[in-house]
Amino acid sequence: MPEVPKATSPVIVDVSLAEKNKKALQFIEDVTANADQVQQRVLVEILSRSAHVEYLQRHGLNGRTNCESFKKLLPVVTYEDLQSDINRIANGDTSPILCSQPISEFLTSSGTSGGERKLMPTIEEELERRSLLYSLLMPVMDQFVPGLEQGKGMYFLFIKSEAKTPSGLVARPVLTSYYKSLHFKNRPYDPYTNYTSPNETILCPDSYQSMYSQLLCGLCQHKEVLRVGAVFASGFIRAIRFLEKHWVLLCNDIRSGTMNPEITDPSVREAVSKILKPNPKLADFIEGECCRDSWQGIITRLWPNTKYIDVIVTGTMSQYIPTLDYYSNGLPLVCSMYASSECYFGLNLRPLCKPSEVSYTLIPTMAYFEFLPIHRNNGVTNSISLPMSLNHKEQQELVDLVDVKLGQEYELIVTTYAGLYRYRVGDVLRVAGFKNKAPQFNFVCRKNVVLSIDSDKTDEVELQNAVKNAVNHLVPFDATLAEYTSYADTSTIPGHYVLYWELRLSGSTSIPPSVFEDCCLTVEESLNSVYRQGRVSDKSIGPLEIKIVEGGTFDKLMDYALSMGASINQYKTPRCVKFAPIVELLNSKVLFSYFSPKCPKWIPGHKQWCTKN
Ligand code: AMP
Repeated sequence: MPEVPKATSPVIVDVSLAEKNKKALQFIEDVTANADQVQQRVLVEILSRSAHVEYLQRHGLNGRTNCESFKKLLPVVTYEDLQSDINRIANGDTSPILCSQPISEFLTSSGTSGGERKLMPTIEEELERRSLLYSLLMPVMDQFVPGLEQGKGMYFLFIKSEAKTPSGLVARPVLTSYYKSLHFKNRPYDPYTNYTSPNETILCPDSYQSMYSQLLCGLCQHKEVLRVGAVFASGFIRAIRFLEKHWVLLCNDIRSGTMNPEITDPSVREAVSKILKPNPKLADFIEGECCRDSWQGIITRLWPNTKYIDVIVTGTMSQYIPTLDYYSNGLPLVCSMYASSECYFGLNLRPLCKPSEVSYTLIPTMAYFEFLPIHRNNGVTNSISLPMSLNHKEQQELVDLVDVKLGQEYELIVTTYAGLYRYRVGDVLRVAGFKNKAPQFNFVCRKNVVLSIDSDKTDEVELQNAVKNAVNHLVPFDATLAEYTSYADTSTIPGHYVLYWELRLSGSTSIPPSVFEDCCLTVEESLNSVYRQGRVSDKSIGPLEIKIVEGGTFDKLMDYALSMGASINQYKTPRCVKFAPIVELLNSKVLFSYFSPKCPKWIPGHKQWCTKN
């Protein structure tokens, strides 16, 4: 007689999992097939709930919830337009200014305004919307890589420091908010959120202890790991780099079954002690692999059952693809979702496609989406700079989610449940295809961003101001800056900003190296708080470097651009370079190179709050 399956038998688990997966996929089918109706419903829902909020009253909506009035009366806005409303909330005004529901906290975006992180008000129920998007990811993946429920995910997840606004609302990055929420901490057992890192290691505020303990747990459970990842590619590479530096200590712990005394957080020690057992054989194996001359393929060597790396490599993160390929011997790189502090947008329905082909399907229940067509000028520059405020005609060009055209580029505009109305996210997307009626978008770029290593986003104006501040150090030497450009160098780990400076020297005294080092530091001090946090707290960005190039180098750069077809009338020195032959040209002209001697200043929270507190 066949044995009666036990309650916990894998067959039963699989059935319920299969059903859950089917439901999730059906949800995607439904909302994409009815994208237009869903979008209209979302807009009506947002506008009727917030009918009496000050912002909508101010713009004369007077409780109307129809799309025509909304489009006619509400302006398309940027963060700066909302800043005074947001400041009021941060300073304790609890009246319904933007949203009828209480603001539960601020999410600090990596986008900045006036050098400080943008503050996005959010409400409790948004956590559910975010959780919903997360819950769709693995059912999609299961169609392409089945069996992932039988092992674990080794994800390096971290929290960042948080601050309080003068009114006492917490301000922190969206992922910190999510990992600290009960949705994450008390998640019911789900084979798809079965991570090698215990919650305590993820929630440890000390970045060294958090990384160390997560790697230790990942190594101890190396055979169970079926997928690895982090949010962004830069974070995953940082973990591998950490392993390169600390594997001896990690192996000692695994050999003896006791934890390095540098890990002092009691909750981390307790959680890890449940996983860490003396295992000299495993320690020898890891040591053998780490001692080899080359670290090529280290991921597949140490975690041999890994099927893919789950990290975002679209947008500026594409610069890390070669490094990931090297460490993983070309494992698939999976970009699963597209999200921001303002709103979680959508997911990749073909997760095993090539990074260059990744497209994200916006989920129509997340927010009300509109799209501003981008008209690129076909001149020499490929940069996208859009006017800060839109005139009436431009506002009328906005199209709805279901009306975007294949191949066209758009700027994303959202209206959210948390109180943003026709808000310009700052991302440029290109329509790559459709899932039913819902468009799928390639991420093209973030508007105006020239330099990025991790989550930092530096634009041309910030860079220009920072350089302007730094060149003051050259004044006593009768030296001026003739030309400059920049480069995000990710060949070092962590990556760092490089500035190429061509000087015009009139004085006879030579400039001591310490002056250039001061210049490096001044640039860093002048950059936004996300950059400085990356340098100081996250250690995700290395010291800034200034490379002094020979006189005439920038003429050569122009000659090169002209030889490639640029027009002499329109030629402008690019303030950031990416194209390898140009970087090589610049590097071949370097006379001296200097690094920032120390970290710039950074404090959690906004400057204004810290002086007030
Ligand atoms: P933040 O507001 O700090 O959460 O940053 C959100 C921004 O990160 C988005 O607006 C995008 O510019 C970028 N981003 C998020 N997800 C992706 C993705 N999958 N691919 C490329 N860029 C992304």
